[in-house]
Amino acid sequence: MYDLHIHSCYSDGSGRIEEIIRKAKEAKLKTIAIVDHSIEHKFGLTEAKAKKRQEEIERFSSKYDIEVLSGVECGILADGEIALPDFKFDIVVVSVHIPLSTDEYYRRILKCIKKNEFDVLGHLHSNLFGSVDEDIGKDMEIIDLLSERDIAVEINTSHDAPPTTFLQLCGDRKLRYSVGSDTHVLSGIGNVRRGFELAKKFLPGGKFILDGR
Ligand SMILES: [Zn+2]
Ligand SMILES: [Zn+2]
Repeated sequence: MYDLHIHSCYSDGSGRIEEIIRKAKEAKLKTIAIVDHSIEHKFGLTEAKAKKRQEEIERFSSKYDIEVLSGVECGILADGEIALPDFKFDIVVVSVHIPLSTDEYYRRILKCIKKNEFDVLGHLHSNLFGSVDEDIGKDMEIIDLLSERDIAVEINTSHDAPPTTFLQLCGDRKLRYSVGSDTHVLSGIGNVRRGFELAKKFLPGGKFILDGR
């Protein structure tokens, strides 16, 4: 099992790197990604913090013998921009974190996918920041772009997103997908089973992001 979206105390999570890695090992996870919020937040992962976190990731992933990816979660800002610290991450997730109108929501996401390099589109259509109407035409545009640019759609078990209505649209497309708990506390690490079940059910033609690396 894999959990590719875990926040640490390097942004707004409560777990320290060693605690997270130890917990992941106990949960028998094969690979995790520690994904902290980026620099659009005051508490976000600056370049200096990313370097320091990397040292800890390397030290404790070898101590506990588990693969740990070094990740960041960028908010999708006005005009589809993202703010990334100058650091080479293993995995870059981008997500919307503020309430937006349906039009603006789609506009930002579509622009963001077209103009940025990243790996995963996080918690699409999450209801946590206010809900947007699902527009099938726009959703299909997103799916086409993700597929064209080989970007993974994330199945996020904290946000319970994307909804199954969106996953159904993906059909048997060979879309990449990622699965993450998006936990900010140690107890949520590895809470991903439902995400993998959804992937199996709705993305039969899909490919897990770590397959074929
Ligand atoms: Zn998020
Ligand atoms: Zn997150």
